[in-house]
Amino acid sequence: MSVPITIRNTASQTAGRQGRVPDFIVIHNTGGTTQSAINTIENAANQVSYHFLINPAGQIFRFVHPNNTAWHSGTNNTTGNQGNMHSLVPLIRQRAINANLFTIGIAFGDVHTTNGNPTSQALGACVALIRELRTEFTIPLNHIIGHRDVVPRHRPNCPGTAFPWATLNSILSQNTTPPNQSPPPSEALINELRAEITSLRNALSNSEARIAALENARNESNLRITDLENFRGENNTRIVALENTRNQHSEQIASLEGSRNQHNARVSSLESWRNQANQRAANLETARDEHNSRITTLENNQNETSIRINTMAEVPEWGISTVQRLIQRGALRGDGSGFNLTLDMLRIFVINDRLGLHN
Ligand SMILES: [Zn+2]
Repeated sequence: MSVPITIRNTASQTAGRQGRVPDFIVIHNTGGTTQSAINTIENAANQVSYHFLINPAGQIFRFVHPNNTAWHSGTNNTTGNQGNMHSLVPLIRQRAINANLFTIGIAFGDVHTTNGNPTSQALGACVALIRELRTEFTIPLNHIIGHRDVVPRHRPNCPGTAFPWATLNSILSQNTTPPNQSPPPSEALINELRAEITSLRNALSNSEARIAALENARNESNLRITDLENFRGENNTRIVALENTRNQHSEQIASLEGSRNQHNARVSSLESWRNQANQRAANLETARDEHNSRITTLENNQNETSIRINTMAEVPEWGISTVQRLIQRGALRGDGSGFNLTLDMLRIFVINDRLGLHN
């Protein structure tokens, strides 16, 4: 550092910052003499430290390197007075981690316990130190705050009610960019940068090739998607056609079922009619059989009526004696071809004979 600094040491610190880079500066008031602050910081039992301490003459002491964590404005995640959720700075509340991990602590010794107004020499040294720190770390002006901004309930008077914030901010904002005092780059650095440029160009070429490959893959994927979309469209058309066919078939099936039902009804009707016809036929057959029987009887009767007895051989036994007597008396002579008697005539002759009418 270009600002004169007296290097001291303390056991009250933590190596590193858990991977973080400081982006806040926290201003303190030690609340006592500079010497008593040095004694306190260098006694490990106290477990307290600042990165930097400034006395009224403007001398700067460094106890902890800014890359390490000093123990000056620790916070925790509880609701107690040191809980970071009470911080007046939204970003500190949001981070919700120990504020020591991202802050650089600068303390003034030998200032009033509560108003904390440092000497002009001390303030000038502080400005030089802050400018120096801002060349190494990215620390916005509104990230230069007091201990009271971190833990307002725990340290409401640090750095003090009279601390000249306006003056400090005014000076810092007048020249926030440090003059460029860098020496010209060495040949080794130039070579190193050239090598890095070559490496970056190679990486760029690789990236461009990779992008081209990915673009080709994307284009192929797009073509494939188009093919699949066309295929899907064709399938959808085919599905619509099949659905239409299915619907037509369903209608035909319904129509055929209607016809079948009508036919079944017709068949039932015909079967009923057939059964009635069969019954009628059975009745007619019965009547026919009765008629046939009657006809047979009538035929028998007719046959009996038509029988003619012409010879003695044809005369029934019960009429033989009567016929012989009628022949003896000359009453029965025949007609030349035979007696020509019916059975009824014979019965009458027999009855008359038995009555003695032929004697
Ligand atoms: Zn403090």
